[in-house]
Amino acid sequence: MTLAARGVQPPRDVKGTRVPVAVASHSFPKNVTLRRELLDRYPAVRFNETGRPLGGEALVQFLSGHERAITGLETLDERLFQAVPELRIVSKYGVGLDMIDLDAARRCGVSIRWTPGVNRQAVAELTIAFMIALCRSVVPLARDLAAGGWGHARGRQLSSALVGVLGCGHIGQQVARLCRAFGAAVLAHDVRPYDEFYRAHDITPVSLDALLAGSDIVTVHVPLDRSTRGLIGSRELALMKPSAFLVNTARGGIVDEAALRAALVGQCLGGAAFDVFAQEPPADPGLVALPNFIGTPHIGGATEEAVLAMGRAAIEGLDDVTRQIHDA
Ligand code: NAD
Repeated sequence: MTLAARGVQPPRDVKGTRVPVAVASHSFPKNVTLRRELLDRYPAVRFNETGRPLGGEALVQFLSGHERAITGLETLDERLFQAVPELRIVSKYGVGLDMIDLDAARRCGVSIRWTPGVNRQAVAELTIAFMIALCRSVVPLARDLAAGGWGHARGRQLSSALVGVLGCGHIGQQVARLCRAFGAAVLAHDVRPYDEFYRAHDITPVSLDALLAGSDIVTVHVPLDRSTRGLIGSRELALMKPSAFLVNTARGGIVDEAALRAALVGQCLGGAAFDVFAQEPPADPGLVALPNFIGTPHIGGATEEAVLAMGRAAIEGLDDVTRQIHDA
């Protein structure tokens, strides 16, 4: 039942108007709670029911006639903003912003609304799961058991590992907190100073090379941008200990997958676990099939709790100017 049907006034910011909202994200409409909460505020909503992301002319057609939109994985560039000049507010569902040309949005007067860190716990927990799975050979031993084997491997404990957190923002900090709770020692590298956080959690900030060379587990939490594309290549992998593990739950393209495959095949690295790939699904089936590699299909933020938090943040962003990430 809608708020109006229950005799409740719509939120003050909507002012009772039937502002049309387009939900281009294909995953948002799949959640009935989010659909209901959005419709309670904005009765005139067009949902993308195709079950897949929209692009090109289909996206232009879908957004046309709408002043406000919620988008997910859609690419929003200057061409799109010019093709839909009535679009004034875009509220991002999900954490990454790499698919939105923020400069083009500014030039075209489109306000981009975004709430950082809403799925940090979900991604951090998957990251910890990867670390423990690598330390205890969980996936190869489970595969072996399923195939009739009873093999054993001497594991290591996360509690005695030295973990290097590359990128210590929302997710990196949560991963660092969880690692410290396990008793692991933590190194961190970030281009921003987080001195207070490092002091509060007994974390040692180091250079990138020192982090790679010193850590038993390196975990990647930087965004994908010009400064981080290919940040971990063959030179960087060669700096890591041959027994070390590499975890990437951030974005594909930050780690050179061909160099990683070569390092894993050559036993120059203990193992790796990735939730994200340069191309999704991954272009190289050889990498994901390696016995010392664990891959998941970009599920880091896909928990019930995180989906609700992300969706509610996107709904709020439609009429909350404090969530604007730049002056449009
Ligand atoms: P954030 O912006 O809060 O933190 C990123 C940190 O990286 C910042 O502290 C920034 O200063 C640092 N950084 C940027 N460039 C750097 C560089 N060249 N060297 C070192 N540090 C650098 O972002 P977040 O919310 O913590 O997200 C981190 C990553 O996780 C992003 O790539 C995001 O896309 C990804 N993510 C993945 C999933 C998933 O489903 N697997 C879900 C959410 C977010």
